[in-house]
Amino acid sequence: MKVLRTVGELRETIDGHRSAGKTIGLVPTMGALHAGHLSLMERARRDNDIVVASVFVNPTQFNNPDDLSTYPRTEEADCKALESAGVDYAFIPSVEEIYPEPDTRQFDLGEVASVMEGAMRPGHFNGVAQIVSKLFEMTRPTRAYFGEKDFQQIAVIRRMASLEGFDLEIVACPIVRESDGLAMSSRNVRLTPEQRAAAPAIHRILAESVERAVSSTVAEVKKSVTEAIDAEPFMTTEYYEIVDPLTMQPTDSWMPPNGSAVGCVTVYCGDVRLIDNITYTKK
Ligand code: AMP
Repeated sequence: MKVLRTVGELRETIDGHRSAGKTIGLVPTMGALHAGHLSLMERARRDNDIVVASVFVNPTQFNNPDDLSTYPRTEEADCKALESAGVDYAFIPSVEEIYPEPDTRQFDLGEVASVMEGAMRPGHFNGVAQIVSKLFEMTRPTRAYFGEKDFQQIAVIRRMASLEGFDLEIVACPIVRESDGLAMSSRNVRLTPEQRAAAPAIHRILAESVERAVSSTVAEVKKSVTEAIDAEPFMTTEYYEIVDPLTMQPTDSWMPPNGSAVGCVTVYCGDVRLIDNITYTKK
């Protein structure tokens, strides 16, 4: 695996492969890699001739300076993990390399970005659109890989790609969980042992609510899930919305226009912000 640190090196290297007719898979990450990230690398490895992973803690998507300064950074371990996952190129640029001047672009991300994370973290999705559009433009991949843990983010990236006219396939990959059900996240290392022991309740409560969806309304499930999470130690629900899987708009139906409803939650466990989601597929 080769580590690339400049945009020039990235462009030149990948342009060469593209001209030789190779397919290129891109996996954007912010590092502190875990098995969730590596599942995207493995899928990209299966689908493409060349795999590029980026590791870049993108400052423009952090609306909270503390979150940016406490975000874990583990470059050496990340490089080892990427190498074992069969990645060809790790793109690890500096902030100056990506933003030689401030990025003032404002994307018209529309309704998919106006709710949930978009409402709670002003500017977050615009920052995501800035970095992902730069990575798409620099790499011009055949396919790009994103995790369904950040369910709304995938809808926002699809919207950005269509606005900007990027010709690539966006591949959504399933959530990877710890054995106790907690969705893997780089932020999990910030949980105290007591908080870590409590955190699997999020997925447990969501999974139980899928069973109840058969006999309950959306409003009833929203209320009971929120109450159940808030009753757990350390936990405060920031939002729990049940939405259409494409438009991200809240729905009253388990089967909204674009497929099974998805429940998206953000929970503060102490001061660590955790997100998760579940699909309400009726059996
Ligand atoms: P991040 O480094 O948190 O920006 O995540 C980089 C990519 O990995 C995003 O597309 C995430 O959705 C994805 N990802 C993070 N955690 C998981 C997980 N537990 N399962 C699947 N994908 C994940």
